[in-house]
Amino acid sequence: MNAGGAQEHETAPPSTPVYLHLPFCAAKCHYCDFFSVPAEGQDVEGTLAAIEAEILRRTPKAPRTVFVGGGTPSLLTIPQLKRLFGALETASGFRGSASEVTVECNPESLDYDKARALLDLGATRLSIGFQSLRSETLELFGRVHGVEQSFRAFEAARAAGVANLNVDLIYANPGQTLEQWQSDLERVLALAPDHVSAYNLTFEEETLFRRWLEQGRLKPLTDDAELEFFWWTRQRLAAAGRSAYEISNFSLNGYHCAHNVNYWRNGAYVGIGPSAVSKVGFRRFGNVRHLGEYRRRAGSDAGAHAWSEEPSSWSRLGETWWLGLRLTDGLSAAEAWHRAGLSGWTAEQDPALEIASMAQEQGWLELVAGRWRLSQKGWPLADAVAREFLRLGQSNRPSPVEQVG
Ligand code: SF4
Repeated sequence: MNAGGAQEHETAPPSTPVYLHLPFCAAKCHYCDFFSVPAEGQDVEGTLAAIEAEILRRTPKAPRTVFVGGGTPSLLTIPQLKRLFGALETASGFRGSASEVTVECNPESLDYDKARALLDLGATRLSIGFQSLRSETLELFGRVHGVEQSFRAFEAARAAGVANLNVDLIYANPGQTLEQWQSDLERVLALAPDHVSAYNLTFEEETLFRRWLEQGRLKPLTDDAELEFFWWTRQRLAAAGRSAYEISNFSLNGYHCAHNVNYWRNGAYVGIGPSAVSKVGFRRFGNVRHLGEYRRRAGSDAGAHAWSEEPSSWSRLGETWWLGLRLTDGLSAAEAWHRAGLSGWTAEQDPALEIASMAQEQGWLELVAGRWRLSQKGWPLADAVAREFLRLGQSNRPSPVEQVG
């Protein structure tokens, strides 16, 4: 990996998906490890001007999908959103090309007018961060909205004409009972969301939640309890017509998030904004995680990249499996070779298949119609099973390019 002031040397081909990172929030949630900061006291206008400059410099033409995340994009005013979406349209013509344009929203900053404006600007899909339906949990999370505000935001978005709505939820919270989660999810289902993202709470490094966990102030649920939440959630959402297409993502037929599916298929993407990561060809780049430095560099020829790396063939293969196994329909060996840039390989050359076969013997993976996927027994262990494939990146085997070249 090259760090610090890496030169930009990527040109993403037309149709490459675009991720736009808007780093401002109303407040910092206690569990969140994204690069996001409370907007108050920040140079919001200066940062948006820098993002606009980066949009104009780096957005590929005609992206297939656009995802505006953060941070809390809905926190911006309608004129600010107009400026950013206008720059995106000028640079890429996304309104004529993108089949899906998602904007992440929080209940405190989403009303009918904002939803209407986002639709007019080209959004096709809104994702609303409910996270919890209990006011004491929202408080523990550091969220600034109330429970009823989440419902009002959802209904306002529907009334404004948003046809594709996601609700984001976190479960297996400290002290939460399965019965509470069951009744909360029923309330969400009564809204008829097209997509639900339901994440098992994690205690990420460098978050308040992690510190509180280490201090014993937060008590996580037991593994068995988490498993019970996991299975119940999958079964209930499937029964409600929203099957899992990924470990934590559930949707009506045809409503999966195409932008995120591209990540899990290890596809290319261009990330714009502070901290945003891009993958072009087999090279990855990351922007600086510092607002002042981002503002200084985003419009310059050198760009705002802080690091770049080109993973080895083995790493690419391992990552392709690690990501692909998150999807319910898994992946085939030939897809993995293609995505990792190893087309033309045969099974005998593929060490990932040795790992897959071992996981199959343990009952964690199954091979169905040429596709490897997690089994019923493997789903709860998804992270651990998928991580086995990342070990390929530490392999000292000779590079396969040298072997075949
Ligand atoms: S609103 Fe979202 S991005 Fe902002 S701090 Fe909370 S979880 Fe993180």
